[in-house]
Amino acid sequence: MQTYSMVIHGGAGTLLPNQMTPEKEKSYIQALKIALELGYKILEGGGQALDAVEASVKSLEDCPLFNAGRGSVFTAEGGHEMDASIMEGKSMNAGAVSLITGIKNPVSLARDIMEKTEHVILAGEGAMAFAKSIGYQIENQEYFFDEWRFEQWQAIKGSTHFQLDHSTKKESKYGTVGAVACDKSGNLAAATSTGGMTNKKWGRIGDSPIIGAGTYANNLTCAVSCTGSGEYFIRGVVAYDVSCLMEYKGLSLAAAANEVINKRILKLGGDGGLIAVDTHGNIALPFNTDGMYRAYRKSSGESGISIYKE
Ligand code: ASP
Repeated sequence: MQTYSMVIHGGAGTLLPNQMTPEKEKSYIQALKIALELGYKILEGGGQALDAVEASVKSLEDCPLFNAGRGSVFTAEGGHEMDASIMEGKSMNAGAVSLITGIKNPVSLARDIMEKTEHVILAGEGAMAFAKSIGYQIENQEYFFDEWRFEQWQAIKGSTHFQLDHSTKKESKYGTVGAVACDKSGNLAAATSTGGMTNKKWGRIGDSPIIGAGTYANNLTCAVSCTGSGEYFIRGVVAYDVSCLMEYKGLSLAAAANEVINKRILKLGGDGGLIAVDTHGNIALPFNTDGMYRAYRKSSGESGISIYKE
C-alpha cells in the first residue's frame, strides 16, 4: 500500500537561548502542529500533494512567529518583500513569485502563476499587477507589523548590515517556511515561502523562489524545500542536487539529503537544512545548524514535532 507523508519546516537554526521561553517554544510547536495537520488531513482524505503543501504553507504564512507572509521581516526601506514557490512532481509544473508586498499568502500567488500563466517566476510590480488582475486583495502595512520584527530592524536600520530572520548571529535562526508531501497516488509536491532577510535591499532574492535551489519536486525522485543561507543554497542548487544524487547516482533519499546538507553545502560555506520526501513516502529532514523547526506525519504511523537536535 502506498505510504503518504507530510513534512513541514519553519526554518533552520533556533532562537538564541535568551530569546526562547517555554511559552514561546510551546507556541512554535502548536503552530507547527496546526500547519502539519492541515496538510496531512488533505492527504488522508485522498487529496493532492499540491493542495496539502499549499494548505500547510498558508497556515505558517498566517502565523507571525515565522518569517513568511504575516511575520515577514523588514526590508531596509521599512517594508516587506516576500518570495515563494511551489512545484508539482507529476507534471513538473512550477510557479514562483518574488519581491512582492501586501499579499497575505505568497504561496497561493505562486500557485496561481503556475496554473494561470505561461510563466514560472513573476517579480515585483509585474507580479503585483498580475495578483490584482486576478482579484487578490492587497493588505496594508499593519497586517504585517510585528513589534519584535520591527525592533530587529531598528537595531540594524541605516547600517549596511542585513541579517537572516531574527538572528544577531548569522547561524542563529532562519525563519523561512516550507512543506513537502507524497499523496495516496504517490505524487509529490513542494512549497517554500519567506520574507527573506532583515534590512535587505537592492531587490535581494534568496533561494526560496528559485526552482531547483530552494524548492524542487519530481516524481522520479523527490520533493524538497530548503531553509538556510540563500546565497549558498542558490550556488549549490541544493534542492535539485538532492534529486540528481538519487536519479543519477542511485542514492536513497536519506543518503542524498545528508550528502548535500552535511557535506556539499558545508563545503561551500553555507548552513541550513531541508525537508524531503520520495514517492514511497520516505522522508528526510537533515540540517547542519543547531536546530530546525520541523514536523512530520506518515500514514504508516510515525510522527514528530521538534526544534532542536535529537
Ligand atoms: N533561505 C532564505 C533566504 O535566503 C532564508 C531562510 O531560510 O530563512 O532568503
